Amino acid sequence: MPIDAARDMAEQNRSRYGLRMYRMRALGLGLGGLCVAAVLWEHGAPPSLWVLLAVNAFLWPHLAYLRVKAHQEEPLQAEFQNLTLDAAMGGFWIAAMHFDALPSMLLAVMLTMDKIIIGGARFARRTLGAMALTCLAASAAWGFAFDPYTSYPVVLACLPFLAIYPMAIGLATHSLSRKARQQKDLLEKMARFDAATGLMNRQQWLHAATAELQRYQRLTRPAVLVLIDIDRFKDINDGYGHTIGDEVVEEFARLLKACLRDTDTGGRYGGDEFGIVMPNTRWEEAIVAAERLRRQVAAYSFSARGLRCTVSIGLSEPHPGIASVSDWINSADGALYRAKAQGRDCIVVGC
Ligand code: GH3
Ligand code: MG
Repeated sequence: MPIDAARDMAEQNRSRYGLRMYRMRALGLGLGGLCVAAVLWEHGAPPSLWVLLAVNAFLWPHLAYLRVKAHQEEPLQAEFQNLTLDAAMGGFWIAAMHFDALPSMLLAVMLTMDKIIIGGARFARRTLGAMALTCLAASAAWGFAFDPYTSYPVVLACLPFLAIYPMAIGLATHSLSRKARQQKDLLEKMARFDAATGLMNRQQWLHAATAELQRYQRLTRPAVLVLIDIDRFKDINDGYGHTIGDEVVEEFARLLKACLRDTDTGGRYGGDEFGIVMPNTRWEEAIVAAERLRRQVAAYSFSARGLRCTVSIGLSEPHPGIASVSDWINSADGALYRAKAQGRDCIVVGC
């Protein structure tokens, strides 16, 4: 379950990432294009520059999105190339605006800020280099002048870019960090739980057993450790196949979970062996709960084929001779072994 959830989340994130980049690029190039347009208007720029600006501001975001979608194997690499192209085009527009101070600085800063957020300082240095190169090459090729004066109309045209884009970047960054937190939580959950049954995995369950044993040693608070093993499970695998075997394990885990009290900790110890740590419990009480589970399993029809199976159960209470969790497990395991030897489908209390 958690593995499927992680896969779905990764898939969703990939497609959302592409869309988010598309929206940010469309917004940034639209607002940045307005600054450039104001300067081109002042300069009485030739139609070729207007056409190029329209292509860069309105057509390029769609093309960039399609490029990433077309590179399904390496979408990130395609996106990084797009970002480098964004920066290079920014360099061209800075030269085409004759280095008009405010829009040029705005373009350079915004185009570097998003690169830092997405690819870190090293990537930003590379894209800044691409920006400087195209800027110099365009100045040399077309002989663009150097006129850093910014008029008041151009200042006004720059305000939407200055106000809106950083806020949009802030929102996108916040949403990404929230996603990262969610993924971290999911990964932590996957590290603690068994994917097939949703029960704690062996390591985590052993932590719970260790903590309970320490409570017994500190406070002499009673506790019981229960080990349960499905009887002749190999026969189910051999007779009906592993898929049916898996179903039996999952259904058994559901029965086990339904039997647990709020304070009990159930776990998958491994394969067809499960465990319960019952805090504040005497073996006489534990045996009642174990017997209820044993009976329910014996009466249950497993999988769509209505299979029958039984479980053997070993219980153990800690005592001064039990120094570690391994001793406690060994004691319950010895009892479980005796339950198997006594013909299975029964409960034995360890010593
Ligand atoms: P016993 O009554 O002595 O426990 O006999 P058993 O056949 O159940 O033998 P044992 O417990 O030693 O072996 C259980 C087998 O279950 C071993 C392994 O191949 C299989 N198994 C373990 N986990 C899974 C699982 O998740 N799915 C399936 N299908 N099989 C599993
Ligand atoms: Mg077994």
